[in-house]
Amino acid sequence: MSTLDLAHHIGGHARPASPVLEQRNPARLDEVVARVPEATADDVGDAVAAANAALPGLSGVEARADALHAIGEALMARRSDLGLLIARETGKTVVDAQGEVMRAARLFRFFGGEALRIVGERYASVRPGVTVEVSYDPVGVVGAITPWNFPVAIPAWKIAPALAYGDAVVWKPSEHASAVAAALMEVIAGAGLPAGAVNMVLGAGGAGRALCAAPLEALSFTGSEATGRVVREAVTARGARCQAEMGGVNGLIVLADADLDAAAEAVVNGAYFAAGQRCTATSRIIVDRQVFAPLVARVGERMRALRIGDPSDPATQVGPLVSARQKSAVQDGIAAMAARGRRPVEAGRGAAAPECFVDPVLFDSMSPDDPLAQEEVFGPVAGVMVVDGYEAALETLNRVRFGLCGGLFTRSLKHAEHFKRHARVGMAMINLPTAGVDYHAPFGGMKASSYGPREQGRAAREFFTVTRTAYQAP
Ligand code: NAD
Repeated sequence: MSTLDLAHHIGGHARPASPVLEQRNPARLDEVVARVPEATADDVGDAVAAANAALPGLSGVEARADALHAIGEALMARRSDLGLLIARETGKTVVDAQGEVMRAARLFRFFGGEALRIVGERYASVRPGVTVEVSYDPVGVVGAITPWNFPVAIPAWKIAPALAYGDAVVWKPSEHASAVAAALMEVIAGAGLPAGAVNMVLGAGGAGRALCAAPLEALSFTGSEATGRVVREAVTARGARCQAEMGGVNGLIVLADADLDAAAEAVVNGAYFAAGQRCTATSRIIVDRQVFAPLVARVGERMRALRIGDPSDPATQVGPLVSARQKSAVQDGIAAMAARGRRPVEAGRGAAAPECFVDPVLFDSMSPDDPLAQEEVFGPVAGVMVVDGYEAALETLNRVRFGLCGGLFTRSLKHAEHFKRHARVGMAMINLPTAGVDYHAPFGGMKASSYGPREQGRAAREFFTVTRTAYQAP
């Protein structure tokens, strides 16, 4: 397969630059998928200038709605080739990748509708004869920094609301998903938006730092907690608004009254699908002692049946990690458990897995203080913690500094209702895997997982608009 030479996309034009990075197919490391340039501060400055120049042309709601629908339709039409490119560049299985492209298409359609539903409010004033009007106006130029694990859907849920509410965008995708980003940019460029409405600067941390230092009104970030902290400090220090969605160490509780087959399915889905590389993945399985043995047996059975292999094969359920570096980070996480005497109860094909593959691993005797129970490993690795009863399970679930999502398997309505209100997570899942959310409902976490307002659905309005209040006397 040919190697793509990528360019920044600034003010409606491709801007080639010398490549500094190579992205390899994680399932075949000798295949270079793309050569990627690193944006300089000048490239970023030009992109911000182009975005500012595009803002007046974004004032018509109907044109914005039409463009968002056109992007949605074009993405839907290209789901097969984009899905294959995602599989080749990031190692995501092609079925998941095509599903992600469809999700992104629907996100653009959703926000196409929202562009025509921007409403304000009118209050009765406490002063006779005065009117009070509240409007939600564009923020201006918004930066977006995105990770590789959802290389089309996450950019979509930032770029689509920005455009819907009349903002222009400077986007820096992940260096591990630059070819997919260029393909998305091609789709966006064909939608009839003003030149510079969406600009793309490529590169890794250096390009990201340049974007954080640029004169943007707001920046929306998704990625790891460590990077998110740096981004938030840089952006808020300039007085700009920042939204950061970061990692999770998500727990799934299985109570004694749970449907154990359904719970085991959810464990395997949450912990191992996407090779554990979802922010909503399950890494902590918190099980009532009474059902520990049958649950672990059921999970083990399903782990042994997982089809691990080439991500471009539609039959594959688990592909490789995104890079050799990520593989070694996950292996370090597994080694840290071994150093505390924890032994995997189940593991796939053994340590000889080639390229960037890591076999799914289950530890059945994890303690709440183990590194895997406290820090995100971001690979197909999970541990089981045994508890007695719901209260102890909830206490264990909440005993981490993260709070993205959490799940509960039970037949008890009382416990389900209690969990929805007391799990310290942004997204609570009852009798469902921890991963898997709708695209029209608010998305985000609590504690160290999130900073700033929620993304997606109508909740996105808060970040992408400024609230203006106008008082008028006769
Ligand atoms: P990452 O933090 O390494 O990189 C994210 C983005 O930040 C990339 O575009 C990267 O180039 C850029 N970046 C790196 N250093 C930077 C710096 N100093 N300044 C500015 N930008 C910089 O994350 P990743 O490995 O790409 O993605 C995986 C992480 O993302 C996991 O922690 C996962 O939980 C998280 N994630 C969170 C969500 C969510 O919505 N909560 C969704 C998906 C992924």
